[in-house]
Amino acid sequence: DIEIPESHPRYQSLLTRHRIEEGVENGITSKQGLIAQGRGEAFDYLLGERTIPSADEAERVAAAYLLLADHPVISVNGNVAALCPEEMVELAEAVGADLEVNLFNRTDERMEAIVSHLREHGAEEVKGLTADGRIPGLDHERAKVDSDGIGSADVVVVPLEDGDRAEALGEMGKTELVIDLNPMSRSAQTATVPIVDNVIRALPNMTKHARDLNGASREELEAIIDAFDAEAALEAAERAIRGGDID
Ligand code: ATP
Ligand code: MG
Repeated sequence: DIEIPESHPRYQSLLTRHRIEEGVENGITSKQGLIAQGRGEAFDYLLGERTIPSADEAERVAAAYLLLADHPVISVNGNVAALCPEEMVELAEAVGADLEVNLFNRTDERMEAIVSHLREHGAEEVKGLTADGRIPGLDHERAKVDSDGIGSADVVVVPLEDGDRAEALGEMGKTELVIDLNPMSRSAQTATVPIVDNVIRALPNMTKHARDLNGASREELEAIIDAFDAEAALEAAERAIRGGDID
């Protein structure tokens, strides 16, 4: 059903659009998700649709945090589920993280559609349906989490998270690894590790780094984390977008 020749110069971008469109048709992605995708594409275009060196470093640091975590959780929304379900499952397996569906526009139908979609792509357990925990400071629907998932996580991967919730999770003391193509977004600004990259490139690269770092000692992983400067990473991304030097 998809007829984009691989030789097309915008192959990746068209494929991505097609997946989001399909996500909306299958009740996985919200209409708001289409707008978020458009916003992301504009930033990706300006970044040259590649992983800039500072993002690659952030992805390695994120992998180190995930490997050191007691209870890492990867938050899944309707965009990410449509774009890269397998990549999510692979990262979760590589670092021993839980997957939890976490929606801005939460409906039971969408929650269930995403959970089954992830299962079809190899996920075993998917959290998010219990919703017996709350993030303090958010209104009822948007505060819902599983108490044995994001509720008790120490490290959370949040791709394309909305700014309010990213801030509230930060206030709960969680280490937030935020994937967001906009370095000026509040989500990126509040992150412990801002990853300014397209989620379709970021997730597999985090998995690759996690596998590389698998035998590393606690000291080595902590050294990688200590050397990271979130502010500098955001500045490098902004320079790349503005057409300046990329490192
Ligand atoms: P703020 O964080 O400033 O409050 P927002 O969260 O309300 O802004 P949205 O448009 O709702 O802004 O969020 C979508 C975010 O997700 C944008 O920053 C966009 O760049 C980012 N985004 C969209 N698609 C992708 C993608 N495929 N990979 C990474 N980031 C993406
Ligand atoms: Mg945001």
